[in-house]
Amino acid sequence: MYQSITGFHKDKNDDWVAELVCGHFQHTRHDPPWQNRPWVETIKGRQEKLGSRLYCKKCNEGAPPDEKRQSKEKPAGST
Ligand SMILES: [Zn+2]
Repeated sequence: MYQSITGFHKDKNDDWVAELVCGHFQHTRHDPPWQNRPWVETIKGRQEKLGSRLYCKKCNEGAPPDEKRQSKEKPAGST
């Protein structure tokens, strides 16, 4: 089902991960030409995606919520 994006963080591989309202995480890496998401590389692009929805397979599978291991990205303006 589709879930709204509530935030982003980077995983240990330095890939961007979207945090969904359901508690699941989903990679949103920019890895052209397979995954073309240039917006994820900029703070502005990520903020524009807040509230938009991604399809969450984990919800369909009934997976438990993902655990966050890193602190949330700071708001824009803090470099
Ligand atoms: Zn989910």
